[in-house]
Amino acid sequence: MRPAQYKKVIVLEKIFDTIIIGAGPAGLAAGLYAGRSRLDTLIIEKQKDGGQIVITAEIENYPGGTEGESGPSLIKRMANQADHFGAQKVYDTVVDLELEGDIKKVIGKKDTYQAKTVILAPGAHPRPIGCPGEQELVGKGVSYCATCDAAFFEDMEVYVMGGGDSAVEEAMYLTNYARKVTVIHRRNELRAAKSIQEKAFANPKMHFMWDSVITELKGDGLLQSMVVKNVKTGEETEIMAPEEDGTFGVFVFIGFLPETALLEGKVNMEHNYVLTDDDMKTNVPGVFAAGDCRKKSLRQVVTAAADGAIAAMQAYKYIEGV
Ligand code: NAP
Repeated sequence: MRPAQYKKVIVLEKIFDTIIIGAGPAGLAAGLYAGRSRLDTLIIEKQKDGGQIVITAEIENYPGGTEGESGPSLIKRMANQADHFGAQKVYDTVVDLELEGDIKKVIGKKDTYQAKTVILAPGAHPRPIGCPGEQELVGKGVSYCATCDAAFFEDMEVYVMGGGDSAVEEAMYLTNYARKVTVIHRRNELRAAKSIQEKAFANPKMHFMWDSVITELKGDGLLQSMVVKNVKTGEETEIMAPEEDGTFGVFVFIGFLPETALLEGKVNMEHNYVLTDDDMKTNVPGVFAAGDCRKKSLRQVVTAAADGAIAAMQAYKYIEGV
């Protein structure tokens, strides 16, 4: 463990008290709690802090959050807080893990890092539709991030696939840009929270296509049409881009898949989600998991942050031999 005035220099040969993999809400909360416990802490993030919440335009349900707060703004405060308490951070892609034994090795593309404990907080990524044409048209009409891409569809028509909180909230956000937003949902009832539904139904730019899924996306360089299937009747309809626009947008929000491919065979998992006990302990001593990578009943920023806090405190107890 390090004294409070520890100088912020990353020494890669050293052995950290804890390495946190992922700088989303779970990882940053773990960083905050580990830092406050004076654990020598390293957070490894592959790309950008925040995980999925950086693509969320408004966080409505984080307790005490300010009205209209965006994902990036909340994550910035979380990252600053972890940093303030001494958690160090590197940007590297983890390619392998050696988790057995007292000293764990986290192998990145740039370097190998060592620690007494590891907190796995790799998060999840958007679930693709998996239909023909989707991959080819990503960034050419198909998107998984309204905050990133909404501006490209100023005064155009967009479709949002999904019926959960993400789909409906992001569809609402898209109405700030697009002239018409149609939610395509596989059932005739939304899964989104009632408060979100009420706002959506009251918005004149919002439209709904029930009992439907997208089965094909077509376009030569840009999205030009899509096939939508009514799951009740089996009827397929091809929707063409409006002639005046030549293209349209499809935003996909049909849930998330855990980023756990790397953990296969390293920790116990079920359906690709990491199994932990209530203390975030995996089956490997000194290895904890937090956030959306875990098997759990509610995946939210607040539960990710709670997981991170518990994991860090358990890492502290593990190191102290409690
Ligand atoms: P979600 O709640 O799992 O909803 C996924 C939606 O996509 C559901 O409507 C589901 O349909 C549909 N779907 C799933 N697989 C599909 C498929 N293969 N084809 C067509 N449709 C499919 O995911 P989410 O909306 O991303 O939310 C994830 C978690 O984050 C939730 O706990 C949510 O409450 C939370 N969240 C909260 C907020 C907020 O409060 N501000 C914002 C975003 C997310 P069915 O309904 O038929 O299953």
